[in-house]
Amino acid sequence: MLPNTPTVRLLLIEDEQDMARYLRKGLEEAGYSVTHANQAAHAQQLALNEPWDVMIVDRMLPNEQDGLEIIKAVRQAALQTPVLVLSALASLDDRVRGLRDGGDDYLTKPFAFPELLARLEALIRRAAPSANSSLDSRQLKLADLTLDLLKRKAERAGQPITLQPREFKLLEYLVRNQGQVVTRTMLLESVWDFHFDPGTNVIDVQISRLRNKIDKGHNTPLVHTVRGVGYRFGLDG
Ligand code: CA
Repeated sequence: MLPNTPTVRLLLIEDEQDMARYLRKGLEEAGYSVTHANQAAHAQQLALNEPWDVMIVDRMLPNEQDGLEIIKAVRQAALQTPVLVLSALASLDDRVRGLRDGGDDYLTKPFAFPELLARLEALIRRAAPSANSSLDSRQLKLADLTLDLLKRKAERAGQPITLQPREFKLLEYLVRNQGQVVTRTMLLESVWDFHFDPGTNVIDVQISRLRNKIDKGHNTPLVHTVRGVGYRFGLDG
């Protein structure tokens, strides 16, 4: 295990139950906090919406899903999470594709567990700017907008933006799901933890407030309304 680091949060995407059990056991013994997903859709949702220090991604997932699609979505959301692809697909082409699609390392099955651990440690080390601030520099970026997830601060074009905690959570969700249509229901569930419709315009009010803070005075709006559906966050509407 890496010395002097807080618990490392690892997302394990693997559909084979025996393999998943084996990996989880070994990784937990090595000190990782492991969350396991075996379906592509659920895995992608976790990958995009929760902070991870590292991910292990299997390629051949149920329903002919390729784990590389998850990695692509993660990179499109501007997340820098280190990703180790762990796959039985071992050809040179496969490995090159895995790295091109945003994987940071590619290990083929069968593998030796100590090698897996060594590679994970190398990935985490590389992702950390310095030993002491290892997990402190979690940032999300979109164009000239930057969110510091640890300090809970945002700035656009170098200018700090003052946000209430809920506004920050909302903005973080929008940035993580950038380019996709985000419905009011999604926002209610993810940002407000409401699993029912409160029947108010709380979201529209909050979005309009956020829009004032983020887009006002800038030539390129980032918050876009998708009529009748919700919102889309990104450079183009
Ligand atoms: Ca598989």
